[in-house]
Amino acid sequence: MLPIEVQRSATPKTRPAPEGLGFGKYFTDHMFRMDYSPERGWHQARILPHGPLGLDPGAAVFHYAQAVFDGSKVFRGKDGQLRAFRVLDHSKRLAASAERLAMPPVPPEVAREAIEALVKVDADWVPSAPGTSLYVRPVVMASEAFLGVRPADKYIFFIILSPVGSYFSGGAEPVRIWVEQQHTRAAPGGLGGAKAAANYAAGLQASVEAKKRGYAQVLWLDALEHRYIEEVGTMNLFVRIGDELITPPLDGTFLPGITRESVLTLLRDWGTKVSERKLSIDELREAHKKGELREVFGTGTAAVISPVGALGFQEGQLVIGDGKVGELSKRLYDTVTGIQYGTQPDRHGWMTLI
Ligand code: PMP
Repeated sequence: MLPIEVQRSATPKTRPAPEGLGFGKYFTDHMFRMDYSPERGWHQARILPHGPLGLDPGAAVFHYAQAVFDGSKVFRGKDGQLRAFRVLDHSKRLAASAERLAMPPVPPEVAREAIEALVKVDADWVPSAPGTSLYVRPVVMASEAFLGVRPADKYIFFIILSPVGSYFSGGAEPVRIWVEQQHTRAAPGGLGGAKAAANYAAGLQASVEAKKRGYAQVLWLDALEHRYIEEVGTMNLFVRIGDELITPPLDGTFLPGITRESVLTLLRDWGTKVSERKLSIDELREAHKKGELREVFGTGTAAVISPVGALGFQEGQLVIGDGKVGELSKRLYDTVTGIQYGTQPDRHGWMTLI
């Protein structure tokens, strides 16, 4: 067990009403923090009141973007029990992301213990209204004040918590997605496979433009040929053509989603034909023309399954299926959320009771 010093907040906040939670607007009373130096490694694990970090403006993170993060959720079941979804897998991904940016990884077991300890301290913040949860945001970033371009030698690992509302208050609503054919997000050999803060900065401009056009998110294509589907906004993408469920293979240019992996596991359990293979926009259009494009959906921590109702291009838009929530999208959403809230059996050991 990690020794964690706990300093409780003397001024606990009033908790927001579940209806107005939204995403990432509110923070709980406490945060976790641990520091890294070459001499001491990761040290001084502590839980303290949520508040400013006190960084020097010369801190490397502000200049060279050495920052990675992750995001997972804790759910309160009807039984009152708290359950964290695949928290060790999220912690492993955080460590892999850190390594990609030449940062010292936080050992996944340590990150997991830290998350669990923090959630226990702020357990009353986990909302109980249907569809709500507690979002867990761990971050590793360079804190050394130094302007030379090299990996920093001091880092901070912190975790903050945010109670979040139901992504789809009125049930899963299909979203319209803009197929981005100019900007790209991550090139082969780049940072796409890591949850690096810089990747999100790279995507903002295109997502603002897509919103202006009336689309909710951007579908990213590969950086070399602008042909192959990669990921959507902050989600991985699945396409159902006839009876085949297709998702791009992990090639390092997009994030290996934990929801993606969970969905692949469930689909295989159900005997569905799944392929991790490249899928071009031309193949997608062709399938649409033949009436075989049955479902498109994104997978990610925030929404679990986000059905796509239409794909927009300069030339016009493709309406998917009948524009409603597809059969597999619905079954996957119900199953994953059922496991998360404890109403369906957790056959793969994804949930940790807190
Ligand atoms: N791609 C990107 C770019 C993301 O930010 C996310 C959200 N973490 C995902 C995919 C989905 O990953 P996960 O299922 O682990 O949330």
